[in-house]
Amino acid sequence: MAQLVYSSKINKIRTFALLLIFGGILLMYGGLLSRGTDWLMFTFFALGVLMVLLSCVVYLFIGTLSLKAVPIVCPSCEKPTKMLGRVDACMHCKQPLTLDKDLEGKEFDEKYNTRRYTREKKKKEKQ
Ligand SMILES: [Zn+2]
Repeated sequence: MAQLVYSSKINKIRTFALLLIFGGILLMYGGLLSRGTDWLMFTFFALGVLMVLLSCVVYLFIGTLSLKAVPIVCPSCEKPTKMLGRVDACMHCKQPLTLDKDLEGKEFDEKYNTRRYTREKKKKEKQ
């Protein structure tokens, strides 16, 4: 059976922001290397600065997300972690976590975070 590799959303976004910064620095370095060609250097620098700025925005976004995330103690590794949405994974041990009692014991699925699922669940409760 394939091992479920799922990392917590906050970690995922953080990795993305870090990659953006590295990408931006690499691009600016590329700009330095292409000093001879003005337009190439300018393009590299502009893209590099843009990527670094974007990663700052992403970091700000993580900050607001972290405020909204629910802090909990992971039942499996007993470290404090934060979760976003209905289902998420522990930041330390990747243990799938849920806030929804109905989903306890069910196989982990990202679809439980979608709006469609919430809607269908509400519909079922009305019946
Ligand atoms: Zn854990």
